[in-house]
Amino acid sequence: MTLPASDAPRYRSTRAPGGDGVPFTRALRAGLAEDGGLYLPTHVPPLPGDWHEAGSLAELGARVLPNWIGDLPREEVERAARDALALEVPLVPLSDDRWVLELTHGPTLSFKDVGARTMARLLDAALRRDGGRATILVATSGDTGSAVADGFAGMERIDVVLLYPEGRVSPLQERQLTALREGVRALAVEGSFDDCQRLVKEAFRDPALAHLPLTSANSINVGRLLPQSLYYLWAARLLADARGVRPDEAGDLVVVVPSGNLGNLTAGLLAHAAGLPVGRFVAAHNANDFFPRFLGGRAEGYDFPATRPTLSNAMDVGAPSNFERLDALLGTDAARRVWGTSVDDADTLARMKTVWEEDGYVACPHTAVGLEGLARYRADAGAGAPAIALATAHPAKFPEVVARALPIAPPTHPALEGLAAGAERVERLEPTLASLREALLDGR
Ligand SMILES: *Cc1c(COP(=O)(O)O)cnc(C)c1O
Repeated sequence: MTLPASDAPRYRSTRAPGGDGVPFTRALRAGLAEDGGLYLPTHVPPLPGDWHEAGSLAELGARVLPNWIGDLPREEVERAARDALALEVPLVPLSDDRWVLELTHGPTLSFKDVGARTMARLLDAALRRDGGRATILVATSGDTGSAVADGFAGMERIDVVLLYPEGRVSPLQERQLTALREGVRALAVEGSFDDCQRLVKEAFRDPALAHLPLTSANSINVGRLLPQSLYYLWAARLLADARGVRPDEAGDLVVVVPSGNLGNLTAGLLAHAAGLPVGRFVAAHNANDFFPRFLGGRAEGYDFPATRPTLSNAMDVGAPSNFERLDALLGTDAARRVWGTSVDDADTLARMKTVWEEDGYVACPHTAVGLEGLARYRADAGAGAPAIALATAHPAKFPEVVARALPIAPPTHPALEGLAAGAERVERLEPTLASLREALLDGR
């Protein structure tokens, strides 16, 4: 057995900047720090010299991820990375100086597969070491639920319980959530998404459930954050290949991130801190515009507005939960590193159309928010550096929006067509803690 990396970071709360921190797997199992803050690494380990020679995202992960994790054996982390990250992540050219990194080829067709699959395998490794089980409890309205269900399904020591608002997710999303999976229960709550979130929070605080090994897998978990930083490196490597230069001599990039909870952007900033040459990140938000207003000096930190529903609904977040982490990471440097913009639904649909007409590319509404953000950034700052925009979901997940934007039949995807034929299982739940308690204690 190879020993863990001795110079790997520990994880400390954003509210205890001078603290010693805890080992990785404690941060992984806790989600939120005890003082209510978010975990950040005590230092950023340097990239291994050979990172840009990796031939796949999985191989890159196996080289880089163990340096971030000090308390699991190196080969366990390598195995988790090779298994979880065996996903196709192509860099698709749109024009001479714009590329799209497609994070849309995982089993549930959004970038959330990357973090969920890796977190599942790291948690499984921690449980095999420590003994015991975990029950992942998540409230979901969009891509997180299906990615978590798929990523954690079949793990011997892990159960998953998903709560979603009945009748308030699209039929396609509902089929993705309720597809029969080993160890996964889907609970359709007779209420709103806010009811689901409230129930999850209450369950975590409920003394009657304190003996259950409840764990959260939302985007503040370091187990999702760290693996997401890997595809930024992978993108830089692919771009260097495409342009015939060495990654470390490629000069600065512009990286565009369609953002909601700001987990994805935070992961990019970690990759940058580790040595990825990025000149500017573009944070492209929909009408939920707290962060762009903050960057422009037009919003006070932590004064969050209510959430507004939009066509790019996976980014409908009024109060981004990773803001505290990003703030701790960047401080007064935020506006120099990140350029932000807010794109409304009309401009999202217009950009979907332009990108289809000019570049022959069908973008999902979230990806279109990013591409509109890039166009605005270049209008402001000039073209110059090559740009990579993250494609965060496959357009086949949003047929209604595609049909509104483009004069073509929306694309389909075999992973979604297969769902219609597959078995489903769902339980109904009244929106009360008593009902959730009963469901959880009932067991499987
Ligand atoms: C979750 C999600 C986002 C937003 O990512 P954050 O990490 O929350 O900023 C963007 N696009 C899609 C398709 C998503 O599912």
